[in-house]
Amino acid sequence: MAVIGFIGLGNMGGPMAVNLVKAGHTVKVFDLFPEAIQKVVLEGCVAASSAVIAAQEADVVISMLPSGKHVDALYVSGEHALFDVVKKDVLIIDSSTIDAATAKQVSAIAAERGLSFVDAPVSGGVAGAIAGTLAFMVGATDAQFARAKPILLNMGQNIFHAGASGAGQIAKCCNNMLLSVLMAGTAEALNMGVENGLDPSVLSQIMLQSSGSNWALQKYNPYPDVMEGVPSSNNYQGGFQVDLMYKDLGLAMDISHQSGSPTPMGSQAKSLYSMHKSKGKGRLDFSSILQLYQD
Ligand code: NAD
Repeated sequence: MAVIGFIGLGNMGGPMAVNLVKAGHTVKVFDLFPEAIQKVVLEGCVAASSAVIAAQEADVVISMLPSGKHVDALYVSGEHALFDVVKKDVLIIDSSTIDAATAKQVSAIAAERGLSFVDAPVSGGVAGAIAGTLAFMVGATDAQFARAKPILLNMGQNIFHAGASGAGQIAKCCNNMLLSVLMAGTAEALNMGVENGLDPSVLSQIMLQSSGSNWALQKYNPYPDVMEGVPSSNNYQGGFQVDLMYKDLGLAMDISHQSGSPTPMGSQAKSLYSMHKSKGKGRLDFSSILQLYQD
């Protein structure tokens, strides 16, 4: 069993750290919010008074932070950068969703210093983090992936080797850009049907069995009260926030500009989510995009 330093105990990181404890690892945790630390200490994690204390003796360090600037500061540019204190044979896994350029740059700096840093963003949301069923998309060498996989299996079910450093972040952006397009398109079709007199449940059943069927209709219907247990039937609370989807679409547009790949659908989805966010809906689940059509 490994000693793991875990940094960032928010909606995702907290339950991920707890699943590592359940698998038998010693998990030393740090977050800027003491309440977040206390919550996971009750589940068996060991509190650390700083990220340095959590990471310096660890065999594996995992981070789950909001964005690229937080990851860069934690490992490279911050006052107490972890690359200065970790063990030489440590494996560092960043599971935050960040820009691929920062992931590649931090990984390259790690390699120059003889350290191993992989990007391993996740899909599956808070429910997947709690249940330990996340999908991980890993950007790493073959050897790094082989080391990371057994650890990631304690927190997830499907562990993919997307390619070299940064590839995990690119795969994550491609997936979430497609998800935003599917969700907006599904909301658009349902709203048009309802405005023309159809029952949303009947229309959902028809499209589910027809060529328009997709993940949003199957698992995450955006129309209230069509499906049980999804955010649309709970005032769009919980789930995956509009703010986070907007962030991910920004990352996707950066990749599109850098590579010259045309993404007109992704760009349109970003405009829709931007409009929705500007109406004060940033904290709602992303399926609330339906309300933009209803307004
Ligand atoms: P969150 O805001 O709930 O948690 C982030 C945590 O990081 C906070 O507790 C914050 O205090 C902590 N933090 C920030 N800087 C820190 C530092 N320097 N040291 C220690 N702690 C620090 O966010 P989340 O929902 O857990 O998401 C984390 C990442 O996972 C994001 O990149 C997000 O895009 C991605 N993600 C989220 C979901 C989801 O459904 N929430 C799904 C997939 C991926």
